[in-house]
Amino acid sequence: MRLIILGAPGSGKGSQCKWITRDYDVPHISTGDILRKNISEGTVLGQKAKSYIDQGALVPDELVIDILKARLNEEDCKEKGFLLDGFPRTISQAEALEEFLEDAGVKIDKVINLHVPDEEIMARAINRRTCENSECKEIYNLRDNPPKVEGICDKCGSNLFQRADDNEETVKNRLMVYHNQTEPLIEFYTKKNLLATIIGQEDINDTIALVKAELAK
Ligand code: ADP
Ligand code: ZN
Repeated sequence: MRLIILGAPGSGKGSQCKWITRDYDVPHISTGDILRKNISEGTVLGQKAKSYIDQGALVPDELVIDILKARLNEEDCKEKGFLLDGFPRTISQAEALEEFLEDAGVKIDKVINLHVPDEEIMARAINRRTCENSECKEIYNLRDNPPKVEGICDKCGSNLFQRADDNEETVKNRLMVYHNQTEPLIEFYTKKNLLATIIGQEDINDTIALVKAELAK
């Protein structure tokens, strides 16, 4: 299966990806995760990306397109397809992906557009905490879904952290970037007859049910 999930930062894309990747046995590819890993390992790519991410700006297209292509060329994606999370984020990224897939002779099956109002996104983002264990990456919300013990992951016992870009100022900036640069993809994929919009629900299980029904179509 080849899927893209679109949605504003903090719309809950990451949480949906967790069950989709498990149930459909498809590799979850998050360009944000790949970039953060490079930053924490201090790679050249990480050094180039860091200042953009910290400001809530987009990392230049050439950089992310290269890392995405490299990832899609790995065996697991050739075999099982992919679930793209956080890519594409601009029309030119979407066009580069089209070209890559065309050369590979494969097609996108569906684009899920997860819609959540800005006010809700803001409230969620500043309350978001993530497990630092890269094998786990469980996501908590101090308002709706707090961990049993403060600062500790229920699942694996690792520490939780707040992403540096999850503060009010940066979230506002990321939302603006989303509306300006990424939202045009809704029309791009609608025209290709690939888009399905799902309205994000208050209870994550309700959103899961809606996405499940859409993927079963
Ligand atoms: P969120 O969806 O919550 O904003 P991500 O983890 O997807 O978080 O991305 C975090 C940051 O990484 C973005 O704000 C941006 O700076 C950078 N980034 C991730 N994916 C891309 C991409 N496809 N193009 C440009 N920048 C990206
Ligand atoms: Zn954990």
